Amino acid sequence: MKNFQVAIVGGGVIGSAIAWELSKYKIDVVVFEMSSDVASGASKANSGVVHSGINSATGSLKARFCVEGNSMFQTLADTLGFQLKWVGKWVVTKNQQDVKELERLQKIGNANKVLGLKIKDGSEVEEKEPNISCYKALWVPTAGIILPYEFTIALAENAAENNVKFLLETQVTGLKKQRDNFKIQTNKGDFQAQIVVNAAGLNCREIVSMVEEPDFQVYPCRGEYLVLDKNYSSLVNAMIYPVPVKELGVLGVHITPTFEGNILLGPSAEFIDDPKDKRTTREMMNMLLKETKELIPALPEKAVISAYSGIRCKLASAESGGWADYRIEESKNTSGLINVVGIESPGLTAAPAIAKEVTKMISKHIDVTPSTQ
Ligand SMILES: Cc1cc2nc3c(=O)[nH]c(=O)nc-3n(C[C@H](O)[C@H](O)[C@H](O)COP(=O)(O)OP(=O)(O)OC[C@H]3O[C@@H](n4cnc5c(N)ncnc54)[C@H](O)[C@@H]3O)c2cc1C
Repeated sequence: MKNFQVAIVGGGVIGSAIAWELSKYKIDVVVFEMSSDVASGASKANSGVVHSGINSATGSLKARFCVEGNSMFQTLADTLGFQLKWVGKWVVTKNQQDVKELERLQKIGNANKVLGLKIKDGSEVEEKEPNISCYKALWVPTAGIILPYEFTIALAENAAENNVKFLLETQVTGLKKQRDNFKIQTNKGDFQAQIVVNAAGLNCREIVSMVEEPDFQVYPCRGEYLVLDKNYSSLVNAMIYPVPVKELGVLGVHITPTFEGNILLGPSAEFIDDPKDKRTTREMMNMLLKETKELIPALPEKAVISAYSGIRCKLASAESGGWADYRIEESKNTSGLINVVGIESPGLTAAPAIAKEVTKMISKHIDVTPSTQ
């Protein structure tokens, strides 16, 4: 049976970022990923936005790791060689009534130490974005775009080059706490590790339930997107967001430019029973088009060439408002099990900062010596 010091369950952006961070140290690390490649879950199907931190309540883990993560991205992109562009974002309002929402976001952003926030008149927005008509908008210069899978693959590849073992098509099927380590059962045989990091996304509850009774539920929430033909790439320059939808703990349907030249419209927010149900629907397509047309009235339906969806891992139900903070903690009952759960948006942005935090937790159990020494 092969022994590791740290086993990470899940090769999404969270598992890959943790693997990358740990690869800087003399630690024997394995990542189990049940799919045929990393970035196969939520990490490949999202908006690809490096968020600024204006949307998360001050003092929350979401705010802390988003702002910290955001500040790490330029160095990460330079080091790992993935594409990153600080295109900025506008949060737009159609009427005077919603301006207080912009002021609220600006206040949260200021408290979270997000720099450069400014509320501008519709005419100033139109100068930069001729296809957008609005009353006022909040300008957020520290928001950027990446290709989420490119980022995750870059983290994983570099970690692998630095001796982290990635076992693909390897599903963790059982976990047993032994005296001072874990026995990990997979479809490819059994392994042992001192520390298990649960970064299994939507399956995080199943991983916990292999060793103890979980004290949380997962509420999958599907987000559908429409993809526009590259001929429409000049419709917007920056990202365009409405004021957030308070009821569901999501940001609302936004318009996001991509590196390939396609523009993304979405995502929707629909709580679903089956976390594997990634279908896209005519109903949501109509809704996405309707909401986008409120921002860009001239948008022709024929611009849409494709659709996809990603599933959020929410720890709060629709009925309770849909907002819950991340849980990044070692289990109180099972020493050595580190749960990184409920990592919905802004998880892509927060990933590098979360990885540093998890490394700190691991260092309480394992000697963390830089691998260059
Ligand atoms: C619609 C949508 C839009 C979003 N937009 C943004 C955005 O613009 N910016 C942003 O910062 N964040 C965004 N997010 C959030 C971000 O995508 C997630 O926070 C992040 O991808 C979560 O990464 P993860 O590694 O926890 O999960 P995942 O990417 O789902 O990875 C979990 C992995 O675990 C594997 N796994 C599960 N069970 C097992 C097992 N038993 N054995 C082995 N492997 C297993 C899965 O195959 C999967 O690959 C968005 C999310 C969604 C859904």
